[in-house]
Amino acid sequence: MTHRLSDQPWLTAAATRAVMAALEASGGPGCARFVGGCVRNALIGRPVADIDIATTLRPEETERAIRAAGLKAVPTGIAHGTVTAVAERRPFEITTLRRDVSTDGRNATVAFTGDWAEDAARRDFRLNALYADAEGQVFDPTGKGVADALAGRIVFVGDPETRIREDFLRVLRFFRFHAWYGRGEPDAAALAACRDLAPGMSRLSAERVSSELMKLLSAENPRAAVAAMAEAGVLAQVLPEARLTPLFEAAVVQGAEPVVRLMMLLPPDDAVVREASARLRFPNATRDRLVHAALVLPAISLSMTDRQARSALYGHGARAFSDAVRRRWAEAPDRAVDARRLLALAEGWTRPPLPVGGRDLARLGVEPGPETGRLLKAFEEAWVADDFPAAGHAERLRALVSQQRG
Ligand code: ATP
Ligand code: MG
Repeated sequence: MTHRLSDQPWLTAAATRAVMAALEASGGPGCARFVGGCVRNALIGRPVADIDIATTLRPEETERAIRAAGLKAVPTGIAHGTVTAVAERRPFEITTLRRDVSTDGRNATVAFTGDWAEDAARRDFRLNALYADAEGQVFDPTGKGVADALAGRIVFVGDPETRIREDFLRVLRFFRFHAWYGRGEPDAAALAACRDLAPGMSRLSAERVSSELMKLLSAENPRAAVAAMAEAGVLAQVLPEARLTPLFEAAVVQGAEPVVRLMMLLPPDDAVVREASARLRFPNATRDRLVHAALVLPAISLSMTDRQARSALYGHGARAFSDAVRRRWAEAPDRAVDARRLLALAEGWTRPPLPVGGRDLARLGVEPGPETGRLLKAFEEAWVADDFPAAGHAERLRALVSQQRG
């Protein structure tokens, strides 16, 4: 059965047409095809983010063809065969057809080829080895990719064990694509190979692992995939600190963002999350967020009054406060009303500036120095405890100063 992509704005966009026309002007009709995510997602009616193109043209030919059409060509990975064309500010990744010459479990040494089937054979899953020409005509070299995409089956191209030994990241990619596009039970042969070969992932760079993990957690509903991952010992391999508890499921139900879902897999212990973040080289912002949420958690309860919450927001910031509230909510899923109340408070929170400063104290005769700092601190504490009154600052300050002078 032949398939044709229809109603795809990206396919008919002027920029896309210009890029394909440029390539075909040099290599003849059919020398370039869309590949991977864009074809897969178009087939199943999911949004298409980036457009990858495969071509029989060599990288230098691709570059020349793109420039000859007056478009911008950036040699992003010439050695791997990739040129990025930019048309109407949109990037198109154009890669020469490749086959693997050798692999070491991490990187492949590739050779260029003119054979579409060879290019398909080195791709990870059948639903990712789909191609479409400029008119949207779909090509399925494995013969199973379209059916897999429509049925939500993630199946390796070829023997799962062989394919994982070539690149151990494919273990995580299997669970990532299952989280995003899988339906029903994961493919048994793939799962068994992932279980057996999980220890091989130790040779991967931390950055590749954590970026794949975050993509997995960004799926709308990664619960089944994460459960399968835990069950196969893959979660323990990449994140030994992780425990799959009902908190994770609760976070997904809350619609929590990926970092918060990650937080729910980890114990609320700043030392543990710091260690895990260092090992997986999480971005500093992610690490700080996990650490901060763990430190703030003991101060947060869903029974806080609005007033107590404002004081906590002032002290800890809206981000850490909300993250801790989400954890408390995951611990007590029936407390949605309180959780939402506190999250809404955090959402609308702007930190009020301290309404007095050193100059106000100087006017009361306090010489600038350590005394100023102490008095301002005392003022701030009382002001926060009083729920940020808008007026009466001068009186309070005067009272504090005279109290100090005893
Ligand atoms: P997304 O929508 O998440 O970008 P995608 O399918 O485009 O999905 P990418 O990671 O961008 O995924 O990879 C693009 C394509 O390159 C894949 O569809 C697959 O064909 C191939 N690919 C990427 N990484 C690997 C890998 N480690 N092993 C084999 N094939 C891979
Ligand atoms: Mg992609």
